[in-house]
Amino acid sequence: MIYARPPIAAMKGYVPGAQPDPSQKYIKLNSNENPYPPSPRVKEILQRLNYDDLRIYPDPLALELREKLGRLYGFPANQIICGNGSDDILNIIIRTFAQPGEAIGFYEPTFPLYRVQGVIHGVQNLAVPLADPFDRPPAPPAQAKVFFLPNPNSPVGFMYPLSLVRSLARQVQGVFVVDEAYAEFSPENALGLVGEMENVIVTRTVSKSYSLAGVRLGYAIGSEPLIREMFKVKDPFNVNRLTQAVVAAALEDQDYFRKNIAAVAETREWFTAEARTLGYRIIPSQGNFVFPRPPEKGRGVRFFQSLFDRKVLTRFYDEEGLRDGVRMTIGTPEDMRITLQVMKDILKIF
Ligand SMILES: *Cc1c(COP(=O)(O)O)cnc(C)c1O
Repeated sequence: MIYARPPIAAMKGYVPGAQPDPSQKYIKLNSNENPYPPSPRVKEILQRLNYDDLRIYPDPLALELREKLGRLYGFPANQIICGNGSDDILNIIIRTFAQPGEAIGFYEPTFPLYRVQGVIHGVQNLAVPLADPFDRPPAPPAQAKVFFLPNPNSPVGFMYPLSLVRSLARQVQGVFVVDEAYAEFSPENALGLVGEMENVIVTRTVSKSYSLAGVRLGYAIGSEPLIREMFKVKDPFNVNRLTQAVVAAALEDQDYFRKNIAAVAETREWFTAEARTLGYRIIPSQGNFVFPRPPEKGRGVRFFQSLFDRKVLTRFYDEEGLRDGVRMTIGTPEDMRITLQVMKDILKIF
């Protein structure tokens, strides 16, 4: 007897990056986590939190946090909504703006969660393939009620300039979502479009840029009418009390944040140049990860496995356009030095 709804029973479900036992000593470059610890202010706030407060529900509106984000980016709190990670935000977006049976859209390669969430919600997924090297996107499907553009792209790392994002956003009738999970590692972002166009939503997360993947906080910034509707859809207490306090503290330490981001970007540029010298092909990345491809095509699985056997954990995507390489998070300079040495050694066996 199958109890699940047919689309659920038929799908594989989203597969997150493996989280190996820390005693296994992998160099963990598979989930785009930040290699540096969060701000010391996070440690302080954790020590000061009153455990008795945990009896009480968190603020359902996360108002203090939204006001803080608003001051940081120049938006009123009523244009911001917080979620339990940006995964939660993406889910709220689909459920708010697309009716089951209607369509959502995205280019491929892309972040695989959009498709999975689309299936769960019973919408049609319109996947528009991008031709390698991915820099000339065709028009997004006009009938999509929601179109997702991860910018910088995941899992490849390339980034579309703001002028291109603007012209793509103008071509959809529905909501145009710029998923900026990695925008803090790049020189540009699309927040300016939110003021220009009522159908643009920018989503962000503290998972990567603030080293807080473990606390689960994402947010969306958009025009007030869109954000207002999203508030009706979200779970009432979707951001817990600890997360609201921890993220508020982390946001206050902008110096630490900037240094952290600069360190990751510097390592990324150095690593990219070195890997290319070895013969790997890498499209320039604006995220905290790269997508190196060995010189010969179709070697992604072997590349992944060879790295894995030498304790370097990366991500292989068995998908069109992605089978030549792996996605590799930028770790500390030491992590990446070791990884480069491994990449040099294994080139001989390809
Ligand atoms: C990591 C990631 C997310 C999810 O971020 P969380 O806030 O950890 O849920 C969303 N979109 C893209 C493109 C990502 O890479």
